[in-house]
Amino acid sequence: GPEGRTLDARLAFHARSRPDHVAIAHEDRTVDYATLHRESTATARALRACGLTRGSRVAYLGKESEHCYELLFACARSGAVFVPVNWRLAPDEVEYILRDSSAELLFVEEEFLPVARALRAELPELRDVVPVGELREWRETGAGTELPGGCDPDDPIAQMYTSGTTGYPKGVVLAHRTFFAVRDLLDSNGLDWIDFRDSDISLLGMSASHIGGIWWATQGFNAGITNVVVRSFGAEDVLQLIRDRGITTAILAPAMLLMLLAEPGVRPADFAALRKVVYGGSPISESLLQRCLDTMGCEFAQIYGLTETGNTAVCLPPADHVPGSPRLRAAGRPYPGIELKVVDRDGRDVGTGVVGEVCIRTPARMLEYWRLPEATAATLVDGWVHTGDAGYLDDDGYVHVQDRIKEMIIRAGENIYPAEVENALSAHPAVLDVAVVGVPDDRWGEAVHAFVVLHQGKSVAPHELRAFARGRIADFKIPTRYAFVDEVPRNPSGKILRRVLREEFWSGRDRAVN
Ligand code: ATP
Repeated sequence: GPEGRTLDARLAFHARSRPDHVAIAHEDRTVDYATLHRESTATARALRACGLTRGSRVAYLGKESEHCYELLFACARSGAVFVPVNWRLAPDEVEYILRDSSAELLFVEEEFLPVARALRAELPELRDVVPVGELREWRETGAGTELPGGCDPDDPIAQMYTSGTTGYPKGVVLAHRTFFAVRDLLDSNGLDWIDFRDSDISLLGMSASHIGGIWWATQGFNAGITNVVVRSFGAEDVLQLIRDRGITTAILAPAMLLMLLAEPGVRPADFAALRKVVYGGSPISESLLQRCLDTMGCEFAQIYGLTETGNTAVCLPPADHVPGSPRLRAAGRPYPGIELKVVDRDGRDVGTGVVGEVCIRTPARMLEYWRLPEATAATLVDGWVHTGDAGYLDDDGYVHVQDRIKEMIIRAGENIYPAEVENALSAHPAVLDVAVVGVPDDRWGEAVHAFVVLHQGKSVAPHELRAFARGRIADFKIPTRYAFVDEVPRNPSGKILRRVLREEFWSGRDRAVN
């Protein structure tokens, strides 16, 4: 149909129905839907002219920009697969992704050209490196080249590398379907958990190299609304964008919300136009969520999912965001049409109230891990994605996500999930941010170590934090070691890099859980 379930068909529809509407706003530039469609189609022709065929991998290395989305749509129209590369990665990591994906073309921002040029000689499958500054001329090389027929919702469109917080990055291959499935489930059930209005102005708060970012951007494009690019997250700039651009809807990671609310002089008036914030990607502490509800004066929806589940499979809808409600401790419930179960080590359903591995069956799930059939078979079993997350279901069907199973601390045989300890300490008025890891301990196997960031001008002693935690969490979970630090190391999607914190303690020793 004219509204098709592929990204390019959807773009073509908006190019006809609202050609002049701004699709992307970035710094002082705007691109309307007709232009985005015209230019990405021309780029698609150039991709074909260059010898790319269905399934060819096309990589982008740069900060967030309109080019990134033009390339996504050009891939969609030409049948290629888009591989966005996180610019914060080290050259070796970039090389790993380009090599692993067999990228045939690399589009690159000026700043990263030296890295790209140096890698080129190492990568025989890479045909060319194209600076995005030359995209306009490069597009013309495709003039007159024929395009293939439209693609299918099950064709691959994006290959996302997991950030590797728990190991080597894997290429998660996603189909067009991933970017339509949840929307269709919400629409067919009449739910407004995540919704868009024609006049919405959406903030692309997360990087397109991360599932949360690319998923959110495609939701905006599929809805035909205006999307405002955040070039690289900084709290002051983003607060200004929200205020001055009249942002109405946004995706933000909990760590981003934390930074926004810590900006000096932040006021409810800054969020006057904002009507809905979608957040997720890592656990949120109750104290932060409460502060968001108090300050931002808009609706909130929490999402939970993985790259492998095609982003969100679970949502804590706006109606559950009632201040003080115990619901705020849950990640949410699956969208109607998505199945969720919790299993033990043998894969048996454990029922409600018991902690196990969260498994999800969703139409948005990945096609496969690129060239890793064994890893694919281990994660995707009968259509169920084994998430690697520990959690439990409550009696109302809400899932409580505790943490990555691999992050679990084992102290004298007791299991401790760092996120739960972080949540408890975050509630202390002097604590701005906190990260918890397990460190080797001769007596207990592992000891719980907290890295604490204090609010400016506040102080607190370890024994006071211990006393504060007592009663909030079981005694064996309370950190016995403390370090006060300036910031918690996180990846761009806001996840705590626990391996970085653990490093100095574990060098040369193996953790039982890993
Ligand atoms: P890696 O798998 O290498 O760590 P990654 O961190 O990029 O890579 P993602 O697919 O982005 O992988 O992250 C998915 C994980 O993020 C989930 O398995 C879960 O642990 C965490 N997560 C996402 N949303 C939430 C949420 N709302 N609450 C708690 N945890 C969440």
